[in-house]
Amino acid sequence: MMIGALALALPMEALAQKAEGGLVPIHIREQTRRNLPLVPAGSLSVDNFITRCTACGLCISKCPENVLRPSTSLASLLQPTMSFERGWCRPECTLCSEVCPTGAITRVTPEQKTAIRIGHAVWMKDFCLPYSEGTDCGNCARHCPGAAIKMVRAGDLEFTGKGPADPMIRVPLIDENRCIGCGACEHYCPSEPMAAIYIEGHPRQNEH
Ligand code: SF4
Ligand code: SF4
Ligand code: SF4
Repeated sequence: MMIGALALALPMEALAQKAEGGLVPIHIREQTRRNLPLVPAGSLSVDNFITRCTACGLCISKCPENVLRPSTSLASLLQPTMSFERGWCRPECTLCSEVCPTGAITRVTPEQKTAIRIGHAVWMKDFCLPYSEGTDCGNCARHCPGAAIKMVRAGDLEFTGKGPADPMIRVPLIDENRCIGCGACEHYCPSEPMAAIYIEGHPRQNEH
């Protein structure tokens, strides 16, 4: 997949924090812009979500991981949007589906949620540290709750363009059929200024 067509990013916020000896810059991960919207498990489809959501903000206020936040896009202003810089959507949490009063997010149990694929992970090899720098990582695979990522030797995969820095180093291989779009891989990826793995939404949940 072409990098240019993937995730563009918002400008990185750089803050300064007072510390012993002076001010230290704190870098906040760039927010991923997805080609397809990502909506919470239970939303059924992006159309259902956008049509029914009244932007009341209840789900945003309940999200313990700060994954949900008000959209700034004109097309969906103040409706919740999902983002993984601060946390990820844990399979056992169903709070947003419990509080939504309109059916934009229908009620799901944790058991149902673990089987709902809201999106799938996409690897951007040129940002991935093992691929581009030859350093060990695998954070994405370690944190995936569904074992949807395997680390495989870079040299065993076929690449277009520039090859891996070290063909023996292990890089992530995603099984899209096991991926539920929880965002743990995106959240824990240490690549900066943007994650080397990110989640694309599905127009209808469980269909891709
Ligand atoms: S609780 Fe439902 S209606 Fe309210 S903002 Fe969230 S999705 Fe929209
Ligand atoms: S989004 Fe990432 S961490 Fe979550 S199931 Fe898919 S590959 Fe695993
Ligand atoms: S966590 Fe990010 S940098 Fe590390 S292997 Fe996975 S995609 Fe690559």
